[in-house]
Amino acid sequence: MAALPQAFIDHIQQQQNFSATEMEQFCQLSAQPLRKSVRFNRNKISLAEFHQLAQQLAWTLEPIPWCNEGFWISPKDPQMEHTLGNHVEHLQGLFYIQESSSMLPVKVIEHFAPEAQILLDMAAAPGSKTTQLAGHFIAPAAIVANELSSSRIKGLHANIQRCGIDNVILTHQDGRILGEQLNATFDAILLDAPCGGEGTVRKDPDAMKNWSTQALHTISEVQKALIESAYLALKPGGLLVYSTCTLSFEENQFVCQHLLERHQDMSAIDLKQCFADASRCITPEGFLHVFPHIYNSEGFFVAAFRKAGEMKVTPPLEAPKKWPYRRASQKLCQQLKPVFQHLGFESSNFFDNLWSRDDTLWYFPAVTTTIASQIKIQRSGIKVAEIHRSGIRLAHDFIIAFATDFSQPKLELSAELARDYLRGVDLRVPDAIPENYERVAFYRGQPLGLVKSLKGKLKNRLPRPLVRDNPIFK
Ligand code: SAM
Repeated sequence: MAALPQAFIDHIQQQQNFSATEMEQFCQLSAQPLRKSVRFNRNKISLAEFHQLAQQLAWTLEPIPWCNEGFWISPKDPQMEHTLGNHVEHLQGLFYIQESSSMLPVKVIEHFAPEAQILLDMAAAPGSKTTQLAGHFIAPAAIVANELSSSRIKGLHANIQRCGIDNVILTHQDGRILGEQLNATFDAILLDAPCGGEGTVRKDPDAMKNWSTQALHTISEVQKALIESAYLALKPGGLLVYSTCTLSFEENQFVCQHLLERHQDMSAIDLKQCFADASRCITPEGFLHVFPHIYNSEGFFVAAFRKAGEMKVTPPLEAPKKWPYRRASQKLCQQLKPVFQHLGFESSNFFDNLWSRDDTLWYFPAVTTTIASQIKIQRSGIKVAEIHRSGIRLAHDFIIAFATDFSQPKLELSAELARDYLRGVDLRVPDAIPENYERVAFYRGQPLGLVKSLKGKLKNRLPRPLVRDNPIFK
């Protein structure tokens, strides 16, 4: 573990005026490896099912006080911590590996805007907070997840897909101009800002390699531009949560101060009551400033603001004329209905939000047209199916998001067959399955993906990018 640079320690001492003991605790904890934490995915499993899972995997759990879905885990086999991402239950989206303090900002949104219907995650990749938001804000609520980096947006989409989320709209914009494009659109906004990462040394020993006060000033200019943009995008009465995984005032308090000085209609919310032990990290302004030694976590910062005014429901806007999607025709819906009946999928409201583009069918959150009329959308909701001459071919995303609702008898695979499936291999199963028949393969009651019976085999329909060499089963 790398030691903290002396210039940084001096800087923090100047800002925090820590006692000698506290500074020693801060430096000591910053040099210790981080405890592993996960958050179970409410879209897939309940708390009781998560406890069952933890038992199967021989994890000892310690609840994270500020997040009902979050737990520090101590696996019986310590090696497991390094391979968690390859575990079948992770690949099935049942849990998300997320640092405990990074679960705070979404909890603040849940606490102060529990009824929000349209939310923005302004700097969203790789999606730990988008997927966390989606556990609480379910359809018809919708989340616009924006990310500037093209390479990181792919990971963001992969996580949304893995977690079976159907109400996210992905955009690929510079957050600094988003506020002008989507003026006064959102009930709640999370700005989890790009930052210097001073709080992340326990995970990344190189995090502080290039630390300098100059770098702090440069990044804080970006943060100020982003928070200004978030202000514009927020509806009157809306909630803005600003967070970073860094510790200096320049990137935290001073950015918040900038917002409050420029906009008299913004007021800071005191987060003291946000969870039982919050007073240990509360600042005089009511922000959460989490140093690693307070809760034995990463360093983190969270502030929340309310915009004055009364929140109004804005009427939906029509999609722009040139938008390539059309409402799915009656004919397409009629084609899809027997497929859903065969799966035992109860689809009453589904068809209202069904769209088509060329030979593909999509299920969009209702606000998609409103967003599309103002900004280019990268992807919305989930792909439902492709239309081929031979009939409808269901899409993987649809299966992952909805298959637990199907009443069709489950094709439950053994661990051995499930491993083969995730490796992309075609399967031989003992039961006779009629030829040309599409089924969803499950492992322990959760969907893995589609198979199709052909010539005595089950053809594997797992999308190639999701094939894994070595999925782990316990
Ligand atoms: N919220 C994410 C999560 O919980 O998984 C982590 C976000 S990370 C702290 C900051 C993200 O902001 C990075 O993915 C970075 O690429 C993105 N970013 C940087 N500059 C941006 C900008 N101007 N607009 C939007 N996103 C930006």
